[in-house]
Amino acid sequence: MATDTLHRRGLMFILSSPSGAGKTTIARRLLEQDKEIRLSVSVTTRPMRPGEIDGKDYHFVSQAEFDRMVEEDEFYEWAHVFDHCYGTPKSQIRTGLKAGEDFLFDIDWQGTQQLYQKDQQDVVRVFLLPPSIEELRRRLNGRATDSEVVIQARMDRARAEISHWDGYDYVVVNDNIDLCFDKVRQILEAERMRRQRQTGLIGFVRELMK
Ligand code: 5GP
Repeated sequence: MATDTLHRRGLMFILSSPSGAGKTTIARRLLEQDKEIRLSVSVTTRPMRPGEIDGKDYHFVSQAEFDRMVEEDEFYEWAHVFDHCYGTPKSQIRTGLKAGEDFLFDIDWQGTQQLYQKDQQDVVRVFLLPPSIEELRRRLNGRATDSEVVIQARMDRARAEISHWDGYDYVVVNDNIDLCFDKVRQILEAERMRRQRQTGLIGFVRELMK
């Protein structure tokens, strides 16, 4: 039996941070470089931003459609963030985990708490912090699509988000994007090797002990 065919259960890899701490870049790189993980595409009622693709970045839906999905219990978790609704659809994830697929979640602390309460065994929670509040402000100012009012609201929101840092398993300060990415990748690799996730190990070890 080759070790690369050993079955393991997939995991739910959650990346959270205040916006501007580099989460989107880290998430994008992870998806590009690691073929075993794919994005859990959230459903949202917020308008599409330039460059975003429906079905890839988010499933963009009306408030009425979102309400219907809540009503019909189609979400693993959902939350109000910045005046809009965001939710993780249940479809695909449960069967994917069994089949050994890993999912990346770009969700906030509320979603993280809800997912963790539902499934502690499969969830890995990683929180990214900016190196300083000045750097965070600089990064948020650099986003051309947002107005002053939105930026100020995001700074307030960032402080609120940071206050939930202690609800995570791992905390990484992003003062260098390459180093930060390496650290996040190491966390993912180590978590994949957790004995409890490697359900194919029992047979493998039995073979070794024959
Ligand atoms: P943005 O609108 O900038 O893409 O995302 C705003 C915030 O919503 C981010 O903090 C992001 O992590 C969060 N978010 C995105 N999708 C979900 C989701 O499915 N559930 C929850 N709880 N938060 C989400």
